[in-house]
Amino acid sequence: MLQKDVDFAVYRKQNPTKDGYFGTYGGAFVPPQLAAEFDKISQAYQTICQSSKFISELRRIRKEFQGRPTPTYHCERLSNALGNVQIYLKREDLNHTGAHKLNHCMGEGLLAKYLGKKKLIAETGAGQHGVALATAAAFFGLGCDIYMGEVDIAKQAPNVARMRLLGARVVPVSHGLKTLKEAVDAAFEAYLQEYDDAIYCIGSVLGPHPFPLMVRDFQMVVGIEARAQFLEMTGNLPDAVVACVGGGSNAAGILTPFLDDPVALYGVEPLGRGPEKGDHAASLTYGTEGVMHGFRSIMLQDENGEPDPVYSIASGLDYPSVGPEHAYLRDLGRVAYHTISDSEAVDAFFRLSRLEGIIPALESAHAVAYAMKLAGEMGSGSILVNCSGRGDKDIDFVLEHYGDRLGEK
Ligand SMILES: *Cc1c(COP(=O)(O)O)cnc(C)c1O
Repeated sequence: MLQKDVDFAVYRKQNPTKDGYFGTYGGAFVPPQLAAEFDKISQAYQTICQSSKFISELRRIRKEFQGRPTPTYHCERLSNALGNVQIYLKREDLNHTGAHKLNHCMGEGLLAKYLGKKKLIAETGAGQHGVALATAAAFFGLGCDIYMGEVDIAKQAPNVARMRLLGARVVPVSHGLKTLKEAVDAAFEAYLQEYDDAIYCIGSVLGPHPFPLMVRDFQMVVGIEARAQFLEMTGNLPDAVVACVGGGSNAAGILTPFLDDPVALYGVEPLGRGPEKGDHAASLTYGTEGVMHGFRSIMLQDENGEPDPVYSIASGLDYPSVGPEHAYLRDLGRVAYHTISDSEAVDAFFRLSRLEGIIPALESAHAVAYAMKLAGEMGSGSILVNCSGRGDKDIDFVLEHYGDRLGEK
């Protein structure tokens, strides 16, 4: 259902509205004592973050610390193996710390510094957001408290070690199921006590306004670079752009700069073990409208509006909702969302490693897998895929559970 009255040349100026709405999605559902603080962050984002001083400082950090721009790379051997369609990867796996998350964490850290905050607070599930944020805190000389369920702490020992090395305090959360949901609540409770000195840093295009806007804008560096690089390499725009969707930050980053182009845009959700409740985390595909974690979007929920259990082989994708702008872009018909199963993602993980010498994160392997399917449907043309992160963190798991596929071509 394509809404013809949306002009994507000015879309980004008009969305979100000043209250943080993308259509009916988004907003800021925060406790009354935090409303003023979120207004302050919103104000600061409109003024400080648009100042030439902030922009040039962030640009220098991206270049000298993060190692940007990351390359765009033509996968010749993979393309040949698939047929006529040319596959290109945006190499966010080569961004410092090995994934795209640092793009918004450095922006959030710089804003915290300008606001005179002393500490960054967040929760983490698999630990990827915690590691990126701890890196930003170390860079800016800020304190960092990362709330993490005890079950996740036990499962993610290397990331816990990295956060501690980087100087963060990892605060164990020991109630309920001791995983991400409880960690979100605990981090928010702590923030309620400390918001004068601390800022809560959300790990994706999620949460109350202005975070979906801010994180999108900080991530757009990915798509802006990739669009220019692709034009320079080929003289054209790609026919399609593909990214995986957990909360939706790497997808927002690469897709947004192409919204006004004649380019097909795709988001890929994790189908996990299948469509049964609890077996996947495909929020847009199977979810319904509701409010969770301070914003309105499409989510996987029970009759009481409590989040459903979610699962994906890629722990960075298992979130029961999705950034509000993705829900809106789906309704507008501008971005199409499809699913990829664990098994398909693992196939793509092996294939990209073997054919290109690039071991992708299992999250990113979902995008690669969908691009491989899409190549078959298109027959010719080109696809740009966001390789959101590197797969070093996934190697042991994949070999233990799927080692028998090692010899397959
Ligand atoms: C966290 C993560 C994701 C999912 O987060 P989005 O906000 O949807 O981008 C994807 N890829 C990698 C490598 C991640 O670490």
